[in-house]
Amino acid sequence: MSPARLAALALALLAFGCAATQEPSVLALDRMGRSSSVEPGIARLDVRLREALRAATAAAEVDGVDIVVNSGWRSRAQQAQLFEAAVAEHGSEAAAAAWVARPGTSAHEAGLAVDVGPQRAADWLAEHGADHGLCRVYDNEPWHFELDPAAPDRGCPPTYADPTDDPRLQGRGTRSGRLSPAGG
Ligand SMILES: [Zn+2]
Repeated sequence: MSPARLAALALALLAFGCAATQEPSVLALDRMGRSSSVEPGIARLDVRLREALRAATAAAEVDGVDIVVNSGWRSRAQQAQLFEAAVAEHGSEAAAAAWVARPGTSAHEAGLAVDVGPQRAADWLAEHGADHGLCRVYDNEPWHFELDPAAPDRGCPPTYADPTDDPRLQGRGTRSGRLSPAGG
């Protein structure tokens, strides 16, 4: 095989691996209790978040809504890639930070956040997620939900406009009940 073909094959494998990592599915969620070889994006979520998602997914199904986890746990390297892409798209680090948490600060890296879809599932979760300890956090990221163990008792706290509005990302402490670190 020529070097060019080898490089193409390596790229294809890399693309396949990335797609698999970034698109954990309802199926992966179903399997996560029974298999050790699930997506790292799901498998490395905080166990309490996995349990909350499992319960919410079952309740949503009763309402005819399928919750799909589009992004879960991320490595710091993956978060850095996302942030760099956001800098390229929005023109500066400051502008990017309104959309993607800086590497080292995202709740995704702590396994405490998931991005869900489709829109219908995000809307369902915004209405019913608190019952399961799942809260929408940012107005500009309606798909982003974090574990909030106090939510079943107290409801979800008010949302922030965007991650730059979140004191947990500025080192100004935490809000009651919500786990840090945060960020989309
Ligand atoms: Zn997110």
